[in-house]
Amino acid sequence: MSEVFLPATLAGLFPIMEQNPDAVLLAGGTDLLVRIRASGTRPQAIIGLERIVSLREISMNDGTIRIGAMATHQHLLDSGIIKSCIPVLHQAVSALGSPQIRHMGTIGGNICTASPAGDTLPPLYLLDACLELTSKAGIRTIPISGFIAGPGLNTLQKNEILSAVLIPARVHGTGYYRKVGQRRSLAIAVISMAALVMTDPDGIITGFRFAFGSVGPTVMRFPDLESELVGKRFADEALSEAGKEAARRIMPITDIRASAEYRRMVAETLLLSIREELP
Ligand SMILES: Cc1cc2nc3c(=O)[nH]c(=O)nc-3n(C[C@H](O)[C@H](O)[C@H](O)COP(=O)(O)OP(=O)(O)OC[C@H]3O[C@@H](n4cnc5c(N)ncnc54)[C@H](O)[C@@H]3O)c2cc1C
Repeated sequence: MSEVFLPATLAGLFPIMEQNPDAVLLAGGTDLLVRIRASGTRPQAIIGLERIVSLREISMNDGTIRIGAMATHQHLLDSGIIKSCIPVLHQAVSALGSPQIRHMGTIGGNICTASPAGDTLPPLYLLDACLELTSKAGIRTIPISGFIAGPGLNTLQKNEILSAVLIPARVHGTGYYRKVGQRRSLAIAVISMAALVMTDPDGIITGFRFAFGSVGPTVMRFPDLESELVGKRFADEALSEAGKEAARRIMPITDIRASAEYRRMVAETLLLSIREELP
């Protein structure tokens, strides 16, 4: 049996972490409990974060949207701030798991799991999200791209937790999220793509960002291809060219969900697919 701790405050959490160096942190448990069961072993101790209310808050202050790491995916879907200010994240979360998973799973757990298929990750990369990491020693903030180090790998230090996600509350452009899975719901992404597009009244691109998930060890972006789109008409030709080049550069693998060739083929069409939503 694992010993279970449920601190109610951050001040109460850190001494428990120090005294139980082999303990694992539990948020919603939708990744962790599956992993524990598959491993066939029990951790010495489990520290649940669910009672630390301050880790669940979603707020906007001084130009920054702050999402507590323990905000569940359903909290994000219900939040007016997320829906109105960063709809691309809202779209991604609506495609994540099932109602049960969205009520239990948290944004912090999705980030810390660092799966190449994590649905919140492509939008967070595009939105210049930074992560607030808290330990007894204080708070440090790093960009999400510096936190995720590879499949299942993050740069959290000993006795440190992810406490919040920080996103600049500026105009980010129109957001799109595309997820291709093996079925319509409850599917892990075979490939995903988030995009943020800004155009002028004549339909000329003034800003373009896109990021792919599930086609490399981490989220993949191509800033040079994004810059090349600026100044071009937001039309099939430019998107098709960028899609072809991105499909050449991604690093997909063949796994139980799809072949690398299939992922490359779909990547080529995903950018084009965002034009379908235009009037
Ligand atoms: C049936 C099913 C379907 C799923 N579908 C999807 C899907 O469509 N898309 C998708 O992206 N994911 C999916 N998942 C994976 C999972 O639900 C998500 O990744 C979820 O966001 C994980 O959050 P959690 O709170 O449950 O994390 P947990 O399982 O509690 O934790 C995951 C890991 O992160 C660590 N951790 C959690 N919070 C913190 C923190 N604040 N600080 C430090 N470390 C922390 C834990 O120690 C653990 O190692 C699915 C899972 C299942 C079981």
